[in-house]
Amino acid sequence: MGIGEESGASLPSSGADAKKRRVTYFYEPTIGHYYYGQGHPMKPHRIQMAHNLIVHYSLHRHMEINRPFLAAANDIRRFHSPDYVDFLSSVSPETISEIAFSRQLKRFNVGEDCPVFDGLFNFCQASAGGSIGAAVKLNRGDADIAINWAGGLHHAKKGEASGFCYVNDIVLGILELLKVHRRVLYVDIDVHHGDGVEEAFYTTDRVMTVSFHKFGDFFPGTGHIRDIGVGPGKNYALNVPLNDGLDDNSFRGLFRSVIQKVMEVYQPDAVVLQCGADSLSGDRLGCFNLTVKGHADCLRFLRSFNVPLMVLGGGGYTIRNVARCWCYETAVAVGVEPDNKLPYNEYYEYFGPDYTLHVDPSKMDNLNTPKDMEKIRSVLLEQISRLPHAPSVSFYTTPPTIPVPEEVEEDMDRRTNPRIWRGEDCDSDHDGEKADSKDGADNMEEDKPEGHPPSCC
Ligand SMILES: [Zn+2]
Repeated sequence: MGIGEESGASLPSSGADAKKRRVTYFYEPTIGHYYYGQGHPMKPHRIQMAHNLIVHYSLHRHMEINRPFLAAANDIRRFHSPDYVDFLSSVSPETISEIAFSRQLKRFNVGEDCPVFDGLFNFCQASAGGSIGAAVKLNRGDADIAINWAGGLHHAKKGEASGFCYVNDIVLGILELLKVHRRVLYVDIDVHHGDGVEEAFYTTDRVMTVSFHKFGDFFPGTGHIRDIGVGPGKNYALNVPLNDGLDDNSFRGLFRSVIQKVMEVYQPDAVVLQCGADSLSGDRLGCFNLTVKGHADCLRFLRSFNVPLMVLGGGGYTIRNVARCWCYETAVAVGVEPDNKLPYNEYYEYFGPDYTLHVDPSKMDNLNTPKDMEKIRSVLLEQISRLPHAPSVSFYTTPPTIPVPEEVEEDMDRRTNPRIWRGEDCDSDHDGEKADSKDGADNMEEDKPEGHPPSCC
């Protein structure tokens, strides 16, 4: 970022972006207690850690705090199939061994990446309730920005779990937004492709999806630059395939030019940003090299358009950095610059030895060459230029989701789903055991299990 350019979380002193935003925030106090199981990299505890930092930075004083309602099975059925919702609401670690469930586990892709854990359905209800509640607040005009860090579970499909996600709170939140808003833009900066959301809205022009992700021998395998949507949704899905080592500078240039053009041409009435933090440097499953500031620049840029904005979580597996990131992004939303020195908090020992909000990127190579980035940019800008300016989409009271032809049912016993994680033990990144080692730049390899397969970088 050049000298004289605005940076950081605070609001500029003049111009359209100087206006203070009304921010509303959803947090379920029990969310951190849900546990995917020993060694599993997905840790809801990171949401509690982020919340704890937010409170200790006094950011809660700049926003409205809500406890989300628990989305009812009927709310979840607005996207998900009835038999899948029945299954999620009835399965438990105690009943999992019953014969009636064993075939269903395979059918709904539950078991490995997506285990059955205590309170699973409640967890899904809280996550979805936060995103639906956020949409309701934006719909009513009660807030400019609505945050739900327990949301952003972008891999969940209509009838199956995927990549640690069971219920797609994002699709449910967007469906709620579509009751009031003609066009919704979805932007996804998780290191993985936002496949579940893209698939749900692949055939409609009422939702434009833009996903930035690692592509090539990486979960979930979709998100090719030539996948652009079909039928009325043609050109309304945008995919930005990236390579290992993506750094702040190259990301910022590409993100800003693509999103600027999308905002000009598509003119969304509301925006949903999925802030998956596994695109940060040093993530256990990710392979990008973004700093918290580079990641948060996406939010900062979207905030500047002053369009109702929903901000969601997502992936993120080096949990001290997830907490840092979502705390800083909350600060960006409310327009306050937090001190780099962390306030004392319940999880202070996780953040050693520097105890700072920001950490340096690693020295890994950026495999995204300027030439690659320029090529990607020109292909995407060309695609956006094929869109009609501010399409006058027809207004449905019940918006269509995936009127895609049903796939022929596969033989569930022979089907193999791609894995987001191959079962290495991921318990070494907690309880402050990194407290006496050096954080940030160079020790991240130690965080990763030996012989990490290429699909997880
Ligand atoms: Zn991810």
